[in-house]
Amino acid sequence: MTSESTDNKQKVENVIIVGGGPAGYTAALYTARANLEPLVFEGFQWGGQLQNTTDVENYPGYPEGIMGPEMMSQFRAQAERFGTRFVTDDVDRVELSDGGVQKVFLGDEEYRAKTVILAMGAEPKRLGVPGEMELAGRGVSTCGVCDGAFFKGHRVLVIGGGDSAMEDSIFISKFADELSIVNRRDEFRASKIMHDRALGVPNIDTLTPFTPLEFVAGEDGKLAKVRLRHSETGEESEVEATGAFVAIGHVPRSEVVKGQVDTDEDGYIKVDAGSTRTNLEGVFAVGDVVDHTYRQAVTAAGTGCMGALDAERYLRDSAPPVEAHWFPGGEPVEMDIAPTGS
Ligand code: NDP
Repeated sequence: MTSESTDNKQKVENVIIVGGGPAGYTAALYTARANLEPLVFEGFQWGGQLQNTTDVENYPGYPEGIMGPEMMSQFRAQAERFGTRFVTDDVDRVELSDGGVQKVFLGDEEYRAKTVILAMGAEPKRLGVPGEMELAGRGVSTCGVCDGAFFKGHRVLVIGGGDSAMEDSIFISKFADELSIVNRRDEFRASKIMHDRALGVPNIDTLTPFTPLEFVAGEDGKLAKVRLRHSETGEESEVEATGAFVAIGHVPRSEVVKGQVDTDEDGYIKVDAGSTRTNLEGVFAVGDVVDHTYRQAVTAAGTGCMGALDAERYLRDSAPPVEAHWFPGGEPVEMDIAPTGS
């Protein structure tokens, strides 16, 4: 997939969308169909978290299921069909304004827009214990679907008790000889169907209630064992494992707007109830960078649609006129507001 960029850097876009997952692509589809010619910064690894997923069985409209990357290609193609432009790169910096021009930077290149829809998603959470980062790629991973196949014949631990841990375990168990799900409580947060499915696999068992303390390398520099602490007694023990997958949830990817827009204590961007409006006029936020509750592709897509409609209404009703102070000393800038309506 190649990057496209705009020729006219002085142009002020109607809408820039930051993020290329279900939320970003849906926002692109709707704003494109409203003739707003969206520019999407979809990230170097476009497609978001679904790029790291195999079967998606819970997205309506696919009764037989669909592979995550294939679904994202289709989302992207549908947005492209109506004129969406894509930049396949990660945004370096964003300068948000309350009702003025919004700026997005790729290195020194500046892109401007009247509205911005933030759809950066979330990323895997880390345990923050010794060895976790040092042994990343040498036995420790956060993506079962990406790395599971490397663990053929291995003894593997999956850390976590939610649906992600169950899903990863089921996938990795196709390759690993033995797999233990390590959960810090005896109860599992996962849905019953996913829990039952995982525990029904013959080479999967559970180790509870344990918290990982350290990932320990062997002489070859690769993961050899994991030190655990019993959550109730505090007793420490070691388990041999040459693979460990950390599947303990996600953190929102809001660093690029940190301190500029209101977020909660975990970094999720705050929006007005029932809308995608942030505390800044012309700045909207959608998908997993907002949602710490549902976090589904279908809910992300739904809020992507809401963001597009909110941005469209803002452009129609409240977007500021072209003002010289946006470009001090500069030439007048063309700012077509495209006709709205879906
Ligand atoms: P969750 O937040 O649901 O679960 C995180 C798990 O990790 C919990 O068991 C939690 O324990 C544990 N955990 C968190 N922090 C630590 C830590 N520091 N040390 C040890 N354990 C820790 O995240 P998921 O990613 O599993 O799921 C997120 C959402 O995505 C859910 O809504 C889920 O249903 C959905 N999902 C759906 C799938 C599907 O339908 N196919 C697949 C994957 C996810 P505790 O319970 O004690 O807090």
